[in-house]
Amino acid sequence: MSDEVKKAQEAAELAADGSPPTIFDNIISGKWDSDKIHEDDLCLAFRDITPQAPVHFLVIPKNRDGLTQLSKAREDQKELLGHLMYVAQMLGQKECPDGFRVTVNDGKDGAQSVYHLHLHVMGGRQMAWPPG
Ligand code: ADP
Repeated sequence: MSDEVKKAQEAAELAADGSPPTIFDNIISGKWDSDKIHEDDLCLAFRDITPQAPVHFLVIPKNRDGLTQLSKAREDQKELLGHLMYVAQMLGQKECPDGFRVTVNDGKDGAQSVYHLHLHVMGGRQMAWPPG
């Protein structure tokens, strides 16, 4: 089993146990430094600490409000989800005019390791398909 899959499995078990706060809470509160590239009332975007492409940043809701993962989205959160997508493309276009990829890892099989919804935006190189 790869380290990435093991990490995702452990994180899923932890999240199932009441969804404790995540490292992203420390980033939102400013307790931890982050390389922030956008902030508004609803969301924050910052560069991923382990970039998988020359450009790799995350877009997260400031208020998790049950959105530990995409599959927990409620109907009343549709507007927030749209906002996150809008901000992802706005920043993506600016940094990667030739195109970019937006990814959401959901749950154990999706290799999610941080249970606070986040959109990965990656670009700055030719992306391959299918992903691993
Ligand atoms: P995975 O770890 O498998 O990519 P996720 O989709 O949950 O799973 O992604 C969490 C992302 O958060 C990872 O890309 C990781 O590098 C990033 N990350 C973790 N800690 C920090 C941090 N302090 N600052 C920025 N990015 C972080």
